[in-house]
Amino acid sequence: MNNEKTLYMVVPCYNEEAVLHETAKRLKEKYASLIERGLISPESRVVFVNDGSKDKTWEIIQELHSTDPTVFSGIDLARNSGHQNAVLAGLMTVKDICDVAITMDADLQDDINAIDAMVEKYHEGNQVVYGVRSARDTDTFFKKFTAEGFYKFMKVMGADVVYNHADFRLMSRRVLQELANYREVNLFLRGMVPLIGFKSCSVYYERAERFAGESKYPLKKMLAFAINGITSFSTKPLKLITTMGFIMSLISIIAMIWTIIVKFAGASELGWSSTVCSIWFIGGLQLLALGIIGEYVGKIYAEVKQRPRYIVAEFINDTGKKSEDKQ
Ligand code: UDP
Ligand code: MG
Repeated sequence: MNNEKTLYMVVPCYNEEAVLHETAKRLKEKYASLIERGLISPESRVVFVNDGSKDKTWEIIQELHSTDPTVFSGIDLARNSGHQNAVLAGLMTVKDICDVAITMDADLQDDINAIDAMVEKYHEGNQVVYGVRSARDTDTFFKKFTAEGFYKFMKVMGADVVYNHADFRLMSRRVLQELANYREVNLFLRGMVPLIGFKSCSVYYERAERFAGESKYPLKKMLAFAINGITSFSTKPLKLITTMGFIMSLISIIAMIWTIIVKFAGASELGWSSTVCSIWFIGGLQLLALGIIGEYVGKIYAEVKQRPRYIVAEFINDTGKKSEDKQ
């Protein structure tokens, strides 16, 4: 069929030896059925991106590639660069050899069966298809609470992201070419992709439990991710500081008038508590403001350096081409 498109799946892997075989098995089956249905071409590949794993992840990827070179490929990053960078490394490596790419976590939390619907939506003319979680039943209460809070907080703070969508998404080659023009070092893909535009839609799926291994996103990392997302995408916190400062000055004017009235009324034995309280309060507010500004200054620092966001050490892909790419 002429309609056949080459699909590259980009799967970031950091210490995923416990799940990799299962993920590979399921993806291989999925590819066979997609090829059979004429939705994707036999040149389609699954690219595992080894993000500087300390375990046997890269050995497993190499082994998968040598046993099934027509299904599996691999990218070995020079060191651990983080989830977002690993995804980008994969996408930028395949952007010129695929028609369409899907990014998916290695831990099988994203539903492989949603890939069919994604590819169908792509054939219907969508350039971006977001995988959106319809249920979070399998997440612990804590994870659910923090994750949903994350999306709401992001929205309030001015970084518009697709609700309950993580990094399970399809992007056409056209979108990938545009994504390549976004040169920022502080990556937050789920905020960047909607900015690119083009026709898009969502596919809903139930998020499963991690198949094996542990989450690489403990609360501390998740908080850091949220702060990164907000400060990379919105200057609202800076504006909030201004508003806060304005309100505080209003309050202090009122307090001053009140102090003068109390003084002239004769009851001027004002306790030190109010003084101490305001010192602490203003001090705290100033530190917070400085912290927020510092967050942005730090970002500018990282951006002006324009360091590579990832370094590909090796790309094993059976189409024969070997590429050493540096972004
Ligand atoms: N990951 C990565 N580099 C890292 C951390 C994680 O490539 O530094 C990968 C990881 O292997 C997985 C995906 O990113 O495929 C999502 O990570 P995880 O499942 O631990 O996050 P969670 O689903 O718990 O938010
Ligand atoms: Mg996960």
